[in-house]
Amino acid sequence: MSVPIALTRPPRTDAAADRLRVLLVSAFDLGHQPFGLASPAAWLSSQGAVVACLDLAVQKLDEAAVREADLIGFYLPMHTATRILAGVVPRVRELNPDAHLCAYGLYAPVNQELLQGIGIDSIIGGEFEEPLADLARHLRPRQVNGQLISPPQISLGRQDFQVPDRSGLPALSDYAFVTLPDGTRRVVGYTEATRGCKHLCRHCPIVPVYGGQFRVVQRDIVLADIRQQVAAGAQHITFGDPDFFNGPAHATAIVQALHEEFPDVTYDVIIKVQHLVAHRDRLPILRQTGCILVTSAVESVDENILEYFDKRHTREDFASAVTTLRDLGIGLNPTFVAFTPWTTMDGYLRFLTEIDELGLVENVTPIQFAIRLLIPEGSKLLDLPDVRDLVEPFDPVSLVYPWTHPDPAVDALQRDVLALTAEAVGEGRPRAVFFDQLWALANAAAGQPGRSRAAGVRPISLPVPQFSEPWYCCAEPTETQLAPPV
Ligand code: SF4
Repeated sequence: MSVPIALTRPPRTDAAADRLRVLLVSAFDLGHQPFGLASPAAWLSSQGAVVACLDLAVQKLDEAAVREADLIGFYLPMHTATRILAGVVPRVRELNPDAHLCAYGLYAPVNQELLQGIGIDSIIGGEFEEPLADLARHLRPRQVNGQLISPPQISLGRQDFQVPDRSGLPALSDYAFVTLPDGTRRVVGYTEATRGCKHLCRHCPIVPVYGGQFRVVQRDIVLADIRQQVAAGAQHITFGDPDFFNGPAHATAIVQALHEEFPDVTYDVIIKVQHLVAHRDRLPILRQTGCILVTSAVESVDENILEYFDKRHTREDFASAVTTLRDLGIGLNPTFVAFTPWTTMDGYLRFLTEIDELGLVENVTPIQFAIRLLIPEGSKLLDLPDVRDLVEPFDPVSLVYPWTHPDPAVDALQRDVLALTAEAVGEGRPRAVFFDQLWALANAAAGQPGRSRAAGVRPISLPVPQFSEPWYCCAEPTETQLAPPV
């Protein structure tokens, strides 16, 4: 999806010469037009800065824009983006030794040491718009970096959001699209109605930053952002909230207003299994207002692993959520951490059997079968003594605490599944074909070659909406993703 697109930014006129020039850079946001650039762009522009945005997921590195900037902000919402941008920052520093470089977003504070080591001057985590705007107010054009008042590292202040400024970003049609079960494609917009999360799952990167809190984006701002994206061609909206039902009343009011104004626009949300069960009475409202897909971080069907993650749901809860969503006609996109230090060969086969018998073969994207647990800096899993005993020292290149499975055959299977996944994604292989191959691969690795899938009646595996972005935030980045942008 990497196509060169000219960066549209205002020329440096005399009138703009004494205004701070800010460049905001994103590298990977799961195929979405980044809210994390558009939102701070509005705050910075409103206080007089000249703001340009650069999304390396769909644009090349614009060296002229880098050289002109006084302040360059790198948006780090997830592991993959952080790995990519860690490779870009030294080049940016070389091109512009005088700019102030700021890293912001979920992964910035937990990677402070690495980021400062590669030339980042300030770091903002949590609610980043206001601290970023404060930082810009303390800068003067061409001020040499390192002379600044540092903003807070993690801000959880309640912000009065501004309508994101998407004018400097590539068109929505340059980003991932969604294909409906009938084969039609929809242009996708993206917004956020909340950030953070009120839960404390141990493996989750949100927890070290938000510590069990979430913050609301005001309803009128969310709706205005949707409105401008529909005007720009969006036919479907992805809500990127870590959990859409952290604030269920806020969430349902927004989708009711969305549907009233744009009855033909569809949307998708992320909701944890526990909330799908507890708030099942609200799910019909989602269906009635255009929700076609719910992503849910199931992580495992193994109770022991769910306990390690402190997920607060059971295998039975997952099965119940599957039935509820199927009965309502809402697609389910379950996500998993398929390989953990506690995954066994038998456990992996049980996982595949569950997917098969729950009729979910069409629902699970191939990469979900290959994801290996990442333990980043700050992970609450490190609070567990047996995890601390298991991991090696932090690796500043891969940005995780590496671990090796006690059974080398499980690690070998993970590598083989990842290779099969990459092949299937590359060829656009149908999910059912991929699953058959995966079944054969895993059973052969477990010493049961030729074992068949159980006979018997199971729910029909219905096609679900599919996004064209095949990778995932918790997956190891590919070599292509990590290649330096030119
Ligand atoms: S995994 Fe989901 S529910 Fe758990 S803390 Fe993270 S965002 Fe919240």
